[in-house]
Amino acid sequence: MLVNRAMKKRLKRLMEAGPPPVERATPLQETVDSLYSAHYWRTLEILHQGKLEQAGEVAIRLARATLQASAQAQEAATRLYPEVPARIQCRAQCSWCCHEPLQVHILDAVSVASGLPTALEYRLETRISSQLKRNFQPCPLLGSDQNCSVYEHRPLVCRAFHSLDVARCKEIKQTCDSQRQVPMHTRTYSFPGLVQEATLDVFEQLGIDRRPVVLGLAVAALGRDFEGLTRDWLCGGYAFEEVTVLEG
Ligand code: SF4
Repeated sequence: MLVNRAMKKRLKRLMEAGPPPVERATPLQETVDSLYSAHYWRTLEILHQGKLEQAGEVAIRLARATLQASAQAQEAATRLYPEVPARIQCRAQCSWCCHEPLQVHILDAVSVASGLPTALEYRLETRISSQLKRNFQPCPLLGSDQNCSVYEHRPLVCRAFHSLDVARCKEIKQTCDSQRQVPMHTRTYSFPGLVQEATLDVFEQLGIDRRPVVLGLAVAALGRDFEGLTRDWLCGGYAFEEVTVLEG
């Protein structure tokens, strides 16, 4: 009960003012939400318009749309965190981080395979996740000049990676540290992958395989039968079973 005049006055003031405004979503949350939902709709649209006999083309459209959206996400991250780019130490021909059999999404493999002039020959003795992390062989897409040979088509994880400490990258490679912990700006790291998550959520609801694959193995498989693999995959099959990353 209100027992004194001061309290009554405060209550009156509160009643006149009404409830405090609900805190608006932060610019970060608004950006994340709009990027996610725009790409979610875009994925549905591409799948809806796609024809079964053009599965390869549909897969490429999905992969390109994801890369485009990821570039927008990267721009948004730069707007939100303008101080970050100056701190990034990644440079052309610095390839310390390109020494690992990458675990990526099928769309990343589609993107890379669609950008290769010739089919890739590649073999690997394991597909077990923890063993892949302990493998420090160069990525099969790394050129002899230490540049990425598929730079425009490279996977999202390569786009998202931005080291704030190149000395640490070098140390990881030289000591074969399978933890591979590199200082990064965690929020901007997650931005490029955000849009891919929208696509993967659509895939999950439609029953399209969204498990990670070993990049080199998947690209090599696509080089042998791009159309057949993408058709089976987009129809809900497990065409990439032989190149899927295994837990462990
Ligand atoms: S795809 Fe290109 S950027 Fe990514 S690890 Fe391989 S060589 Fe490096």
